[in-house]
Amino acid sequence: MRRTFPRQQARVIRAIVRVALIAWEAWRFRRGDDRAIARRQRARLQELVRHARTASPYYRSLYRNVPAGPVHLASLPVVSKRDLMAHFDDWVTDPDITVASLRRDFLSDHSLVGARYLGRYHVATTSGTSGEPAILIHDDASWALFHFVGCRGEWRFIARWDLLSGVLRRGLRAAALFVTDGHIGGSVALESARRRNAFLANRARVFSVLRPLADLVKEINEFQPTVLEGYPSALALLASEQRAGRLTIQPLLAITAGEHVTPAVRADIESTFDCPVQNRYASAEFPGLSMECRHGLFHVNSDWYLLEPVDENYQPVAAGVVSHTVLVTNLANRVQPLIRYDLGDRVKLAATPCACGNRLPAITVEGRTGDLLTFDAPDGTAVTVLPLALVTVIEETPGVQRCQAVRTGPRALRVRLEMSSDADPDQVWRAVDERLQAFFAAQGTARVIVEHAAEPPAVDPRSGKYRQVWSAR
Ligand SMILES: [Zn+2]
Repeated sequence: MRRTFPRQQARVIRAIVRVALIAWEAWRFRRGDDRAIARRQRARLQELVRHARTASPYYRSLYRNVPAGPVHLASLPVVSKRDLMAHFDDWVTDPDITVASLRRDFLSDHSLVGARYLGRYHVATTSGTSGEPAILIHDDASWALFHFVGCRGEWRFIARWDLLSGVLRRGLRAAALFVTDGHIGGSVALESARRRNAFLANRARVFSVLRPLADLVKEINEFQPTVLEGYPSALALLASEQRAGRLTIQPLLAITAGEHVTPAVRADIESTFDCPVQNRYASAEFPGLSMECRHGLFHVNSDWYLLEPVDENYQPVAAGVVSHTVLVTNLANRVQPLIRYDLGDRVKLAATPCACGNRLPAITVEGRTGDLLTFDAPDGTAVTVLPLALVTVIEETPGVQRCQAVRTGPRALRVRLEMSSDADPDQVWRAVDERLQAFFAAQGTARVIVEHAAEPPAVDPRSGKYRQVWSAR
């Protein structure tokens, strides 16, 4: 007698097996086993490409000229968020998913943040700081990377005795500062954990960074978190409230994620709250991408994510050189394959092995490509200015607490400042002007008019992120 195994049941068993394998592998992970990692990378890539060509009409068409059989990563075409989103229904490998039904039945309902779509997928959107938000769908295996692989470097960090004893003494209360209005990456991860874990449900809370600051401060004072998590800009804002005496909390650990953190912001959070800061570099596309080591470098979990720092023409850049952008491949996600996806971050691969002993590729993140600014040179050519350098010049002016800089033209920059309470505004503006003029002169630009904004720095109302520098046109 022939028995048919129900499709649904087979899918569930397959998912459980894949997740169990990821957990097992993460647990026995050895940091120095280069050959084993290279072997896994190769096998996983071939399997992923084979699957994408078979099950995704988008990749089938994209790879029509790629010879069948084993492929080299570098021979595959690059994919972009815009192109993938434009071909969404052809991109996904499950015909039950369409972008229209996803938007209508799931994303429009904010009570479903962290719930499973079609009973089997995790869905998160990017914040949309750089254009249209992407909609990312993860199967259980891809989502498991966030829990098992993305955190495997943190166990030692979390297992520090002072932290552990503090949490035992004062209890675990995690406050996450993100945008709660929608299915944006950070909130989804936390809400999904809360839905599945009764212990966490009462001990973790998401606070919206778009709420009025006074209300936010009041709620966080009442909650008294022992762990703080959120955009670095949000935590920096809380730090300034703590210094002003309006916020009075004693977190044991601060976790920053979701945006680039400057050394000044990090030091600010660390010293104000007198607690360690753990920084994360991951995204809604690549949830377990890397882990930060004690030397402040991000080690890419290259057994599951392939990361290629490249120049403007998508050619590889050498270690030690800041890339124009970075291409990332998610080796786990089957439902929405991401192969050589342009993530838009500028990164630098460490040229020498990291002193921490971890031999996974180590990178520093230098910011986003979209934030590069160009100003006029006296002869009319363009001069590119690094946003981080510009911010540092303003931020390190005595009296400046927070700043925002908007390039409003090829010879114009608008600056928003928040100053310390004892600062003399005229004096601070004068110092900022002098420092900026010296900076621009050193960069070789024509004279840049610096406009003093009356309004204070503010978060982007759409994404809830606090961008420090960008170009308005
Ligand atoms: Zn390291």
